Amino acid sequence: MTFRTLGLSAPILQALEDKGYSTPTEIQRKAIPAILEGRDIIATAQTGTGKTAAFVLPILQALGGERQRRAKRIRALILVPTRELAMQVEDNVQQYGKHLAVTSMAMVGGVDLEPQKQQLIEGVDIVVATPGRLLDLARQRALHFDELEVLVLDEADRMLDMGFIDDLEKIIARLPGRRQSLLFSATMSRQVRSLADIVVEIPVEFSI
Ligand code: AMP
Repeated sequence: MTFRTLGLSAPILQALEDKGYSTPTEIQRKAIPAILEGRDIIATAQTGTGKTAAFVLPILQALGGERQRRAKRIRALILVPTRELAMQVEDNVQQYGKHLAVTSMAMVGGVDLEPQKQQLIEGVDIVVATPGRLLDLARQRALHFDELEVLVLDEADRMLDMGFIDDLEKIIARLPGRRQSLLFSATMSRQVRSLADIVVEIPVEFSI
């Protein structure tokens, strides 16, 4: 199986070739077609399996089409537990999306709010964020979710371990009900299940 047979478009295939990736990993083979079909997913997958590309590639494909932007509002939100992971995932978005006209930013705490607000005013398609900073900006009305199409919870178990459940619930309550939701977790505990219950709808589920 190749990235092409998974249904990815030429600009994304080019970026993968630039990185020297020729074969999709197991999580990519399972997740990419389901996400491209618009399904919600729950995936149990560890770091190192290629899980980041498993959600970043189909999101880029969905957002990187020719659709004319009506407003400068975010279309995909990727929530992660730490600022390091946010920067790493956003770097992946940049690399895989380098032949597409899709914009992204990492939204993390510990840095000045103003440049992040300014970037949002200019327009960002994909935001990779830690829950606390995202909520700060949403409360200040710097972020609007009415055009949000996709939500990703990455390392959901770690976000719960770090005590982000209240922030996550508050964020989810602000999002449009009609959206695609993707939940990734290294482990599948009862707590992760309860979170999944409020996030995904009729998911495709797999574990690798
Ligand atoms: P992740 O599980 O997302 O942290 O990815 C683990 C590492 O595998 C990262 O350095 C990725 O860039 C790399 N990677 C992801 N997909 C592939 C692939 N299909 N072939 C080779 N390396 C990959």
